[in-house]
Amino acid sequence: MRLVLLGPPGVGKGTQASSIVKKYDIPHISTGDIFRENIKNGTALGITAKEYMDKGLLVPDELVVSIVKDRLSKDDCKEGFLLDGFPRTVEQAEALDSELSQMGIKLDKVVNIDADEDILIERVTGRRICKTCGATYHINNMPPKVEGICDIDQGTLYQRDDDKVETVKTRIQVYLKQTQPLIKYYTDKGLILDVDGTRPIDEVFKTIVDSLPTVH
Ligand code: AMP
Ligand code: ZN
Repeated sequence: MRLVLLGPPGVGKGTQASSIVKKYDIPHISTGDIFRENIKNGTALGITAKEYMDKGLLVPDELVVSIVKDRLSKDDCKEGFLLDGFPRTVEQAEALDSELSQMGIKLDKVVNIDADEDILIERVTGRRICKTCGATYHINNMPPKVEGICDIDQGTLYQRDDDKVETVKTRIQVYLKQTQPLIKYYTDKGLILDVDGTRPIDEVFKTIVDSLPTVH
């Protein structure tokens, strides 16, 4: 299964991504996670990416594209993959197309999860993440058993720098301007699956699975 997950910040891409990769046993390729990992490790890539991320802006296409190309060439992507947060511009989508055609493969679906802006802001600003395992919580919708502590490993929960309200507003604007055109791009290719991101998590997941080709 070769999938792209598309949607504005806070729509629940990360949560759905975790369930999808488990079900289809494919690697989860999140460019945001790759950047955050690089920031944590203090790499040159991380230092460059952070300048853009902290402002809520997109990291330049060349950087993102080369990372994804490299990742797709790994053995574990042979049977499929889930791209989460990539592509985010038409240029990135075109670069992905040309890479995939060179590899002789095609995307199966582009899952487009959407929701209204006020919901997105509430979801993103309430998001908390475990420092140790990366599990995601929400202060109202999915609170941990003990405030500020991960249920799984008792790690400390934190808020991403770019999840603060002003940055979130910028990220949504960036999404509308630079990423939303991809919906038409992939609709024209007959690949889009539209999903209502305001539905309960389980329901969103079921809608996605029911619309994907059956795996044997
Ligand atoms: P995410 O975790 O997907 O919300 O990504 C966090 C941030 O990483 C974004 O706000 C961008 O600054 C950067 N980023 C992640 N993926 C991309 C991409 N495909 N193109 C450009 N920037 C990206
Ligand atoms: Zn944890």
